[in-house]
Amino acid sequence: MIPAAAPIIGQEEQDAVLRVLQSGMIAQGPEVSAFETEFADLVAGAECVAVNSGTSALHMGLIAAGVQAGDEVIVPSFTFAATGNSVALAGATPVFADIEPDYFCLDPGAVEAAITERTVGIMPVHLYGHPANMTELRRIADARGLAIYEDAAQAHGAELDGKRVGSFGTFGAFSLYPTKNMTSGEGGMVTTGDPQLARMVRLLRNQGMEKRYENEVVGFNTRMTDVHAAIGRAQLRKLADWTAKRQANAKFLDENLRGVVVPPVADNATHVYHQYTIRLVGGQRDEFVRQLADKGVGSGVYYPIPTHQLPSFEIDVDLPETARAAAEVVSLPVHPSLTQSDLEKIVESVNAVATAGA
Ligand SMILES: *Cc1c(COP(=O)(O)O)cnc(C)c1O
Repeated sequence: MIPAAAPIIGQEEQDAVLRVLQSGMIAQGPEVSAFETEFADLVAGAECVAVNSGTSALHMGLIAAGVQAGDEVIVPSFTFAATGNSVALAGATPVFADIEPDYFCLDPGAVEAAITERTVGIMPVHLYGHPANMTELRRIADARGLAIYEDAAQAHGAELDGKRVGSFGTFGAFSLYPTKNMTSGEGGMVTTGDPQLARMVRLLRNQGMEKRYENEVVGFNTRMTDVHAAIGRAQLRKLADWTAKRQANAKFLDENLRGVVVPPVADNATHVYHQYTIRLVGGQRDEFVRQLADKGVGSGVYYPIPTHQLPSFEIDVDLPETARAAAEVVSLPVHPSLTQSDLEKIVESVNAVATAGA
């Protein structure tokens, strides 16, 4: 079976973990600092603060940005639940807006329509590794005096007009979960151009302390350990090669798949293919997934239930493109461990199942 995702853990990661364990210092320390410095290469000019998950990165970022009870933040519903969750955890209200159909990211027109007097910000998700339409979202945010908070959990190294995601908003949040484009085991990174915000995230992750036992604000323990940072540092050095491999795999799939809608890329965008997501228009998606699995090709559906319809939210709002995407998408393997014969098998299987009318 070709797996839908396959984290790559090599000798470098194993050596790095051992080095930290043998140092006897395993909590947040020098490895975390070094990881933060090195991660800044990925988001030019940003200050980076490591935390224990992508969810924490969003959550701490929002609190540091001053988002609080009574505020509304516009988010997509077609994303992982952590996006909306982080807004709710900050005490604010996530307002779910529809996506545009090509890139599955927030539709600027829908965002504009969702603004109320309580709206303080917009949280686009660079879904599947394709940047959201930051040009239009920035125009709207500036015209209405709103902030932008980027959920870049799936988009390490993605670019729009040559600018890296994570550097467009008040802050960006990356996930380092094992299935993401790079991992630290569990982990997250806040990126920001605002030193005050960075300092507040540093306080929030550590019980509000900069100086020990002189807590300045009420905070959390969302620190990253040096063990995890060491894994992340080793992965970061391999990310560019892995991204190039994902892009080459996607190109092969683009050129050879038949009978399905392959993912378009905006002219000014660099897609990093966290997922390679096709649409099965009018097809029987679940049957398609089952038949692919029978042929030994793993796939995933991200996400079958829009966030606003989850039992945790159950919000009554009509989001037609979100509903259509949730019914039609399938993500095929695109990860860097695929071999040429894996790619050929994926193409053969998808084309066979798609033309059989599944
Ligand atoms: C993975 C993910 C998150 C959360 O990251 P964790 O590290 O799992 O907490 C948030 N948003 C999106 C879009 C994600 O894919």
